[in-house]
Amino acid sequence: MANVSVLGLGAMGSRMAANLIKAGHQVTVWNRSPQAVAALVGAGAKAAQTPREAAAGADFVVAMLRDNEASRQVWLDAETGALEGMSAKAVAIESSTLTAEWIRDLGVQMSGRGVSLLEAPVVGSTPQAEAAQLIYFAGGDAVTFARTEPVLKAMGSAITHVGPLGYGALAKLSTNTLLGIHVTAIAELIGMLKHANADVARVLEAVGTTPVWSAVAARVSASMLAGNFAPQFPVELIEKDFGYTLQTAGSDSSAPTIAASRNVFRNAVEKGLGKDNMTAVVKLFT
Ligand code: NAP
Repeated sequence: MANVSVLGLGAMGSRMAANLIKAGHQVTVWNRSPQAVAALVGAGAKAAQTPREAAAGADFVVAMLRDNEASRQVWLDAETGALEGMSAKAVAIESSTLTAEWIRDLGVQMSGRGVSLLEAPVVGSTPQAEAAQLIYFAGGDAVTFARTEPVLKAMGSAITHVGPLGYGALAKLSTNTLLGIHVTAIAELIGMLKHANADVARVLEAVGTTPVWSAVAARVSASMLAGNFAPQFPVELIEKDFGYTLQTAGSDSSAPTIAASRNVFRNAVEKGLGKDNMTAVVKLFT
């Protein structure tokens, strides 16, 4: 078993840390807001005051943070950043959903200090994080991947080594973009069916018998029809991911369908739905 530190105890990171503890690792945790720390200390984790302190003595340091800016701050801050505390033998595992460009930049900064980076973004939301059923898209060199895989297995059920640094982010952003396009299209179709005075559930059930229907369409439409918008993957996070996809594509005009879907999520954030589950965009059309 290893010394593993977790930086970022939000909806996902808190559950991932709990599974590392359950797997028998010695876990140290840090979070920007201290409230999130107590529950994990109760479950057996050690608390650190800064990312740097958390990283000292760790074999693996996992980050699960909101975005590129948070990742930069937590890893690289000259005073408190995790990299300042890491030994050259340790592995940094970046699991947040970020851009490939930032991941490659972070990799350069880490290798300059002799530290190995594996990017390991995840597919799956809070139920999968809780059940250690996350799907990992790893990016990095094969040796670092092989060293890290046993740690990822405490949190996930499927681990794919996609390629070098940046490939994990590209696979993750592609997956979330496909997911989000389902969400906005189904929200608009529910609006269209209501406008046509149809029995929405009945029509969608018929569509569900065809090959174009998918597991995600079933989950998303069920959440919308039940009006269940308790946050798992909130609107504001998928909106962030669409921004990263478009940034990677180069411009909105290079990916007009993706840009249109992002505008739906952006409108939802502007209407105060940012903290609701992504499926709450149906409220814009019903
Ligand atoms: P979350 O609940 O909003 O947690 C975000 C975490 O980032 C919190 O620990 C937060 O600290 C920290 N943070 C934000 N800005 C920071 C900054 N400037 N400096 C330091 N810490 C900062 O988000 P989440 O759902 O756990 O998601 C985490 C990452 O996983 C995101 O990249 C997200 O896109 C991705 N993801 C999410 C899901 C999902 O279903 N929720 C699924 C797959 C991947 P505070 O507690 O202090 O705010």
